[in-house]
Amino acid sequence: MTRRPIADHRAQVAERLSGLARTETIPVRVALDRVTAEPVTAPYSLPLFDNSAMDGFAVRATDVTAGATLPVRGRIYAGDGALSTLAVGTAMAIMTGAPLPSGADAVIPVEQTTERDGSVLLHESTTSGAFVRSAGDDVSAGDVVVGAGVQLAPRHLGALAASGVESITVHRRPAVAVISTGSELILAGTEPVGGQVFESNSLVLQALAAKHGGQVIFIASARDDDSFAAVLTAACQDADVVITSGGVSMGEREPVRQLLQPHGWFGPIAMQPGGPQGLATWHKTPIIALPGNPVSIVVSFEILIRDTLRELAGLPAIPAGQATLARAVTSVAGKTQFLRGVTNDDGQVVPIGGPGSHLMVTAAAADLLIEIDADTTALDAGAEVTTWPMT
Ligand code: AMP
Ligand code: MG
Repeated sequence: MTRRPIADHRAQVAERLSGLARTETIPVRVALDRVTAEPVTAPYSLPLFDNSAMDGFAVRATDVTAGATLPVRGRIYAGDGALSTLAVGTAMAIMTGAPLPSGADAVIPVEQTTERDGSVLLHESTTSGAFVRSAGDDVSAGDVVVGAGVQLAPRHLGALAASGVESITVHRRPAVAVISTGSELILAGTEPVGGQVFESNSLVLQALAAKHGGQVIFIASARDDDSFAAVLTAACQDADVVITSGGVSMGEREPVRQLLQPHGWFGPIAMQPGGPQGLATWHKTPIIALPGNPVSIVVSFEILIRDTLRELAGLPAIPAGQATLARAVTSVAGKTQFLRGVTNDDGQVVPIGGPGSHLMVTAAAADLLIEIDADTTALDAGAEVTTWPMT
């Protein structure tokens, strides 16, 4: 049996999804974690105007010596509009963030003053610019506030909002639909009776897709019968891509393969777990058909889908790592194996659990995949291996 190489299948996934890259303009207030598609420039210089960094007294620095007393000729509060003028030899009370009166070039903090009978005693001298926030000292109009390709953290949202930017252009998150198939599947909260299995794949796929730039808009479960076609058609209404689980291998009730084989490619790829795979188009929508075993779902997503989805959303690929094996392993010829592993205290990776791709609870204790390439059937302790984070 010829198995499609992993790299080929991954490239096919990327190819089917390549038309989905888009940008959209959205309000800054809902842009957390989104990725900018273009640089955002400052519409205004910031600060917008010279203002006080302290509650205190606006003065001309040359009027101030330690022990000087100046008449107080007004009070300026944050939000005050009309710019006042400070006469020579006078002071004005000023609050933090209030516009500096013209003529003033320094602020004396209130703690260094005593105000009495319409005058203020200044305890210390000052220098021009003290406690003044000058217009434009943060950013100049036209400068870049946030560059292109930045995943927006709360601080970036702050910079954009502070700059007066209301909306921005970001990479669109592909709309993802997830369908699990299997007449045996029931939801947690139901008491299992003969032959039934708790459904877990849709939750895993939904979480992985959302974590890597997808917007999950549809989640459904289908039985292993004709009803799958109707569910798939419904999913295709709004989804950019549909990810299915189960029903792709060589059994007698494989609704995904049976429906979609004429509309795509189904077959084994040289990967374990996750060997049986399919790719198709239904109602003009790309369908990524994964096998049903819960560990296969995780491995298939991480190895075949994750970085393509991230790229569409503008997110960087997650690099593979290198590590030393803590113990010897054996592997099958002809398929790249992804063993589940953890890092020990010496920084070496230890495979955990058996090869069975139904061992979801066992696999959940791992945080990386250890890649054993298709030509390798045995590796000694100390061998260098490629590792993939289990995200
Ligand atoms: P299949 O690929 O449909 O032959 O399924 C392979 C194995 O994975 C079977 O043991 C299924 O019961 C199990 N399985 C399939 N889909 C799910 C799912 N959504 N959640 C949990 N287990 C599943
Ligand atoms: Mg099935």
